[in-house]
Amino acid sequence: MTRPAGVARALPPPRADLGLREGYHSAQVPVEVRLNTNESPYPPPPEWLEALLAEARDIAFNRYPDRSATDLREALGRLHGVPAQQVFVANGSNEVLQCLCLAYGGPGRKAAMFEPTYALHAHIAHLTGTEIAAGRRRPDFSLDAAAAVGLVEEQRPSIVFLCSPNNPTGLAEDAATVSSVVAATDGLVVVDEAYGQFASWSALALVAEDVPLVVVRTYSKTWSMAGLRLGYLIGPSEVVTALERVALPYHLDSLKQAAGRLALQFSDQMERRVAAVLGERERLVAALSAMPVKVWPSQANFVLWRPLERVGQEVWQGLVARSVLVRDTSSWPGLEGCLRTTVGTPDENDRFLSALAEVLA
Ligand SMILES: *Cc1c(COP(=O)(O)O)cnc(C)c1O
Repeated sequence: MTRPAGVARALPPPRADLGLREGYHSAQVPVEVRLNTNESPYPPPPEWLEALLAEARDIAFNRYPDRSATDLREALGRLHGVPAQQVFVANGSNEVLQCLCLAYGGPGRKAAMFEPTYALHAHIAHLTGTEIAAGRRRPDFSLDAAAAVGLVEEQRPSIVFLCSPNNPTGLAEDAATVSSVVAATDGLVVVDEAYGQFASWSALALVAEDVPLVVVRTYSKTWSMAGLRLGYLIGPSEVVTALERVALPYHLDSLKQAAGRLALQFSDQMERRVAAVLGERERLVAALSAMPVKVWPSQANFVLWRPLERVGQEVWQGLVARSVLVRDTSSWPGLEGCLRTTVGTPDENDRFLSALAEVLA
């Protein structure tokens, strides 16, 4: 191969502000017990895979997919009792959040969130040039509704992110808190319910055409399909129309549309998996409470805890050395010394608990 002279030279730098924020990455360490990314420990039902393989034979792969993902959106609409026009679907709920920031954020606009919370809310806001207005949670990680309303009235954000149950702390918001934030803002309230099915209350009850609120959900956790990359939003159809303007054309491939639609036929199995995880969560919380660690209450499929007599990072290392990976949140602002464990299978939870007992001994 020959190439013209003078083409090799230093590459142009990317946006200077990208260096300011590291991406949101959990360590992908090869271990036997992976309890660090809040996935389901169980695979989706084999019947779902059979149904998908059967449909895959009929997909015209030479053709672009249905751009508006009609069948999938109708199926999700039936699940939640809303018309397809109130459903937006994207490649993981993170892409839904990105579309929200592209459509409602951007230069000169602000997004509010209450730390500590899901790091990607601030990260995606930043990437889309949206200014961040960060409030704080109480020391017990609950959200003070009056303080939230105060921040919203003072900062006038275009987007208010709530995360319920909140990752990584575990508590869900209640109807009164969400309603008072909706009443106070002239922006759009985004309730990220990635763990919604684990909680006792959902903001879905508040969704209506004339309420500036959307609920974001994902297939990654309760549906056991993190590998599929599929998430969606339920909200006013006007918001869905705005999001369709910023999504890339044909962003959802045909296979994924079928996979997501077929998954909904197995919601009984999903609910059984959720119930099993909830039972294991209670067992984990009880076992952790008997150890020298502080445990926070959780309405999700993970538990936040902090060793009382040991450095969080050292405990994390000790667990990795025993082939158990949890999330090291110990250096995150407001979470000093804390670690987060995803609820796994009974076996995995036993491995975690006995490794932890050894590390703390
Ligand atoms: C896991 C998680 C998501 C899921 O993102 P996907 O892109 O759908 O995998 C979204 N929000 C929160 C708070 C999460 O913890």
